[in-house]
Amino acid sequence: MADIAFIGLGNMGSGMAANLVKAGHAVRAFDLNPDAVAKLVELGGTAATDVAHAVKGADVVVTMLPAGPHVKSVYLGETGILETTHDQAVLIDCSTIDVTSARDVAAAVTAKGIAFVDAPVSGGVAAAEAGTLTFMVGGPDAAFSAAEPILNIMGKAVIHAGDAGAGQAAKICNNMMLGIHMIGTCEALNMARKLGLDTQRFYDIASKASGQSWSLTSYCPVPGPVPSAPSNRDYMPGFAGPMMLKDLKLAMGTAEAIDAQTPMGAQATEIYERFVAEGGETLDFSGVIKWLAREL
Ligand code: NAD
Repeated sequence: MADIAFIGLGNMGSGMAANLVKAGHAVRAFDLNPDAVAKLVELGGTAATDVAHAVKGADVVVTMLPAGPHVKSVYLGETGILETTHDQAVLIDCSTIDVTSARDVAAAVTAKGIAFVDAPVSGGVAAAEAGTLTFMVGGPDAAFSAAEPILNIMGKAVIHAGDAGAGQAAKICNNMMLGIHMIGTCEALNMARKLGLDTQRFYDIASKASGQSWSLTSYCPVPGPVPSAPSNRDYMPGFAGPMMLKDLKLAMGTAEAIDAQTPMGAQATEIYERFVAEGGETLDFSGVIKWLAREL
């Protein structure tokens, strides 16, 4: 069993760290929020007083932080992970961050001969708790092989996307598709409703026809057809609108930097910006149907 340091016990990290504890690993955890650490201690983890305390002597370090600046400061800052870890450790960043920050951290860590992967996830809080996340992993083969057994405990699929930053690249491309699909699904469901179609019947048709998508059949944005979807609980997240907006902005920043044409991605970003600003801030991203239907 490994000694694992876990930094960032928020909505996602708390469930992920709990699964590592359940699998029998010794997890020493740190978060700026002491209540989050206390919850993991109740489940059998131990509390660290800061990043360095969590990381010292650990075989594996997992981070699950909000955005690029947090990741850079936790890895590269004074008394951060890079200063404290040892050269046999495996460092795994599961946060969703910009590709450039991910590559900067990877370059600094690998320059010291330490294994590092970017391993952002698909799947929300429920998947984090159930250990059924999908991990998209960027980094050299040896680092991937070292990280894979740990990621397998927290996920149902662990896929090597390519070199450093490739996990983040796959994540933003995937989520840009998701944002576009979800808006399209909402537009069609709203229009079907306005045309007098019964929602369940239209769902039965579209889910067996060429309009089928994950947004429709796993996450249907109208209540009824998919009982586990946030639409059945007043659009409580799930995957919150601001999170989708964050990922779309990451995608748009990257698209601009590499001169990729993403007109639909740009439109989706604008729509999520308005959704979040005009009443959707606390709602799941599928709640964008309420914005389209002028119900916010
Ligand atoms: P969150 O805000 O709930 O959790 C982040 C945690 O990091 C917080 O508990 C915060 O206190 C802690 N933190 C911040 N700076 C820290 C520091 N310097 N040292 C220690 N702890 C620190 O966010 P989340 O929903 O758990 O998401 C985490 C990452 O996963 C994000 O990058 C997000 O985009 C991504 N993600 C989230 C979801 C989702 O459904 N929530 C799904 C897929 C990916």
